[in-house]
Amino acid sequence: MADPRDALAALPRIDALLESAPALVARYGRASTVAALRGAVTAAREDLLAGRATTAPDPATLVAQAEQRLTARRPPPPRAVRNATGVVLHTNLGRAPLSAAARAAVAEAAGSCDVELDLDTGGRGRRGARLAPLLADACRAEDAIAVNNAAAALVLVLAALAGGREVLVSRGELVEIGGSFRLPEIMGASGARLVEVGTTNKTRASDYAAAGTDVALILKVHRSNFRLTGFTEEPDIGALAEVARARGVPLVHDVGSGLLAETGEAWLGDEPSMAGALAHGADLALCSGDKLLGGPQAGLLAGRSDLVRTCDGHPMARALRLDKLRVAALSATLHQHLAERSEDVPAWGMLRADPATLNARARALAAAAGGHVEEGTSLVGGGSAPDRAVPGPVVRLDAAQPEAVAARLRHAEPPLVVRVADGAVWVDPRTLDPAADEAVATQLAEALAQDPAASSAPGAGSTPGSTSGAGSEGPAAGPAAS
Ligand SMILES: *Cc1c(COP(=O)(O)O)cnc(C)c1O
Repeated sequence: MADPRDALAALPRIDALLESAPALVARYGRASTVAALRGAVTAAREDLLAGRATTAPDPATLVAQAEQRLTARRPPPPRAVRNATGVVLHTNLGRAPLSAAARAAVAEAAGSCDVELDLDTGGRGRRGARLAPLLADACRAEDAIAVNNAAAALVLVLAALAGGREVLVSRGELVEIGGSFRLPEIMGASGARLVEVGTTNKTRASDYAAAGTDVALILKVHRSNFRLTGFTEEPDIGALAEVARARGVPLVHDVGSGLLAETGEAWLGDEPSMAGALAHGADLALCSGDKLLGGPQAGLLAGRSDLVRTCDGHPMARALRLDKLRVAALSATLHQHLAERSEDVPAWGMLRADPATLNARARALAAAAGGHVEEGTSLVGGGSAPDRAVPGPVVRLDAAQPEAVAARLRHAEPPLVVRVADGAVWVDPRTLDPAADEAVATQLAEALAQDPAASSAPGAGSTPGSTSGAGSEGPAAGPAAS
């Protein structure tokens, strides 16, 4: 058996390895490359000393190991992917895709920009000032601000208006949304004291009228991601507003979805809007910026000016503020809604896509990739409205190993994210850019060509019963929609 001391002596020197790896140095820098090479050599030495190896790895192997370490420690920025899941606001895919105008605004603001400079006077401008009128008009509110996200807007409201005091919430609304938005925990973090009223299925206005001893605020939270059915009861926002007025405390409505005003679309059902909540008597309404608003991650807070200003003046507002890139994206998106060009906001363009056009696209995709069209549904997603579904055509592609096909598509260039269910791969044209349809068809055909069933007739390789891990917030959503 070889003497381990010989093997140890055969381990190459770091400078020799470094010289053989100019590509790594160029890509990751010298210090990082040296550290990774050192890590690889140290691991090899430990293997020899522990008897896990008897010969020193050759230099090329050590360089390859160093490269693996570097790729693991230097993950690239998020990559653009094609969304064929049919989930319009896919949380795992970054929720709302930004409009072309919002992307251009982000690019414009990325360098030096006038986010806090008044170009007329040369003096300091207020960051929120340019957003306030856009937000207020879009929500039909007296005043409005935007912060990091809806969770932040809620924390800010509670801290600024109810710090150390009581907040009334129905037991039926103590929700968890998107895996980490848990109302009781947010309440705790804000310093407000939660007073639960009513029961899980029934809460009446009289419950709000009687509860608490030091009440600062009444909070209504939209049950975005689940439905109560059966024997249920809850006061509408108008009845709650009356209680709030009688008790002399503000009523705050977390509407969640980012719907600015009612649109009358059937698939929206009774989804509350910012304008509707305020019109029905809420003093403040809050929502997300990257759900139905179709903008960047943000939290909107709109309503009575005195309350909005109190929130904006709270020290926490500074910690929760938007950066210039999101100010730019949100501003551009609000301009589009206010100019009645919501269809230019991708989420709305997708949700309102013309059925005939969708059908033609689905048929073309099916023909090119060897599948067939079925009537299905697309989901709004985003943890905002899981059972809000829009009917439309979907392409079914049968495969012997649909999960393997989906995995190949995730590694395509660019990655294509599909849904797997019922032993088939499903492609929803609604969430795909029409301009990419031909390229998508090629990606699908290539991935399916490697499926074992590809040699048999199209559709003959179906393996019923294989389903994907459906999204936590919707049976048709895979990968997880939130
Ligand atoms: C989605 C949602 C939230 C959380 O929104 P973020 O912007 O992700 O913080 C809060 N409340 C409701 C009702 C929601 O639907």
